[in-house]
Amino acid sequence: MNYIALVKQVPDTKHIPRDAWDWDTGTLRRALLDNVCNDLDQQAMAFALELRREIPGQIVALTMGPPFAEEVLRHALSLGVDHGVLLTDRRLGGADTPATAYPLAQAIRKIEREIFKGDHEYLIVTGMQSVDGDTAQVPPQVAEELGIAQVAYVTDHNIGGDGMLTVQRVTRKGTEKVAIERFPCLVTLTQWTLPPYPEFHQTRRAYSREIHQWDAEAVKTDPSRIGLAGSRTNVVKIFPAKEATQRRCLMVTEVKELVRQLKATYGSREEKRPEHDKSRPYKVPLGKKTDYRGDLWIYAEHGDGKLHPASFELLGKARELAVPLGEKVGAVLVGGDVVPLATELIAHGADKVFVVEHPSLKDFIASVHSLAVTQLVDARSPQIFLFSATPLGRELAPRVAYAVGSGLTADSTDLQLGDLKRGKLERVGILMQTRPALGGNIMATIVSQHSRVQMSTARPGVLQAFPPDPARTGEVIHFHPKLPSPDPGVRILSVETVPETSGLGGADIVVAGGIGCRTKENFDRQVGSLADGLGRFFNTEAMVGASRQAVEAGFIDRGRQIGQTGQTIAPKLYVALGISGAVQHVTGVREAGIVVAINKNPDAPIFRDCDFGMAGNVETVVPELVDWLNQKEAGGNG
Ligand SMILES: Cc1cc2nc3c(=O)[nH]c(=O)nc-3n(C[C@H](O)[C@H](O)[C@H](O)COP(=O)(O)OP(=O)(O)OC[C@H]3O[C@@H](n4cnc5c(N)ncnc54)[C@H](O)[C@@H]3O)c2cc1C
Repeated sequence: MNYIALVKQVPDTKHIPRDAWDWDTGTLRRALLDNVCNDLDQQAMAFALELRREIPGQIVALTMGPPFAEEVLRHALSLGVDHGVLLTDRRLGGADTPATAYPLAQAIRKIEREIFKGDHEYLIVTGMQSVDGDTAQVPPQVAEELGIAQVAYVTDHNIGGDGMLTVQRVTRKGTEKVAIERFPCLVTLTQWTLPPYPEFHQTRRAYSREIHQWDAEAVKTDPSRIGLAGSRTNVVKIFPAKEATQRRCLMVTEVKELVRQLKATYGSREEKRPEHDKSRPYKVPLGKKTDYRGDLWIYAEHGDGKLHPASFELLGKARELAVPLGEKVGAVLVGGDVVPLATELIAHGADKVFVVEHPSLKDFIASVHSLAVTQLVDARSPQIFLFSATPLGRELAPRVAYAVGSGLTADSTDLQLGDLKRGKLERVGILMQTRPALGGNIMATIVSQHSRVQMSTARPGVLQAFPPDPARTGEVIHFHPKLPSPDPGVRILSVETVPETSGLGGADIVVAGGIGCRTKENFDRQVGSLADGLGRFFNTEAMVGASRQAVEAGFIDRGRQIGQTGQTIAPKLYVALGISGAVQHVTGVREAGIVVAINKNPDAPIFRDCDFGMAGNVETVVPELVDWLNQKEAGGNG
């Protein structure tokens, strides 16, 4: 079996110097940043190198970028990859995700023809997302263009006695083992192992090897589908991230000040999310017509016979947007036996529920679900289609968007209607989609262009659901997709569900520890003692949670993980100890009343998403904090 590793050179977002921002224009001075290989792509290469030990074959590293992106391929060669392919052409510049996925897929076709000599038996591996774009859209869109299966969020692999390759992947509910039965297949890595290190003899070899350099013509691209011209989204504004966060961090330097602030604010901020924006409802300008027409849809995610709460949040937003447009709200419900869930969707705001049932839709296989949903979009033409930025939504929405010829904004934190005027171009009643970009360092407002549907995934926990109204009525419409191939090329072998028994959701106080706690003993000591101290101080239940890194390190069981693939919680007080504040983590605590962070790195992103921060070592700050809490408590809480 052969391998293609998709790798990307990205700016080093971990070390953005303060003067790298031009705050007047809101732009980044790219020349001041170092370029590195995207971390997850390094892990993908490590994955391919390891797998190759068991199933031998050639490994090709493929990247698209400017000529200096060759560096990332030299790095790949120094790790032991056999060939480097650089897809470089000015005409490919400025591309969004479909305009990137398409030429990459064309290059993969050429690699198959010319390097693999027509052999279809290959695995495409790549990081799930890159730190600069952070959309996780290119890999599923490459798979959609190639018409092949994908398995996302892979963390491990295994070769059975029969030679069958199985991979383990993370899902919202736990983990799944998936058998790869047909090649080519694409897997995206969410975590594998520490990035490999170049070896001396390979580094020398890397600089003597030829790198295949291909341009847009060499890979036979259609000029209308590449670069800026082929892009289906357009960034209309960028602004500093701090303008977007709902929290303003007050950095405190002394433990006693922190205790004073906690006492003063605890329980005072239970409702964090903004109300539905009734104050400034959008109005279509007099005498104008909106650019898009049709229903506003949401994808209703579900599992174990229950709807995901994020689907209600999408419905709330769709309802809010539908009113000024005078359109209806539709919910798309896909699965094996899902019709009983329709009533709840109507109660939460759907006017129509499209029920798409088929035996092949019982398990979530992105390629099959994408086919079914695409047929529904083709048949009904909505103007807006929203998905939750859950693992499932982030895997499915890019494929659907690609298949229906639409742009997709990933991970939006704000969705509003607006008008756009640029020179002669005027667009009315379009969806303004705002999201964090560049590792959360800036916010970008994006609009769809050359798109049939305006599509976005929205981060769970940031939009507001309407309270259910059981008296609401709506239409249930059955749609029967044609799913020609019963064999999608991948098969789910087993599902391991993490029980949601930790009860974190009900606790008033949650203290969570990250990998910054270093060891399990330290984690237990620091996180446990602070939870006890705060629980006693505020005379309530305080529980222990964790970041995913801490869970992966074995500090605590997975039932305690907070975040995108863990639990979403809304305690009155949340304390993060040695947690960096990755978006996937903070997504889980958006609803918390007060957020406190203690981190030794004063530039840690968590300080942009908290109310009180202390830059310091958990091992020194926490014992002092616990002492203060004990003293105050002993002194009558005064
Ligand atoms: C699809 C996907 C889903 C994910 N889902 C989740 C999820 O549900 N939940 C989640 O948490 N993550 C999730 N992640 C992972 C996430 O991207 C981050 O990798 C993770 O949150 C980082 O955990 P961390 O903050 O413990 O570790 P790191 O990012 O390594 O941060 C450790 C922090 O500890 C600080 N530190 C180190 N030593 C000390 C010390 N002695 N005192 C004080 N501070 C110290 C460091 O400055 C650093 O900021 C997901 C990732 C992906 C790709």
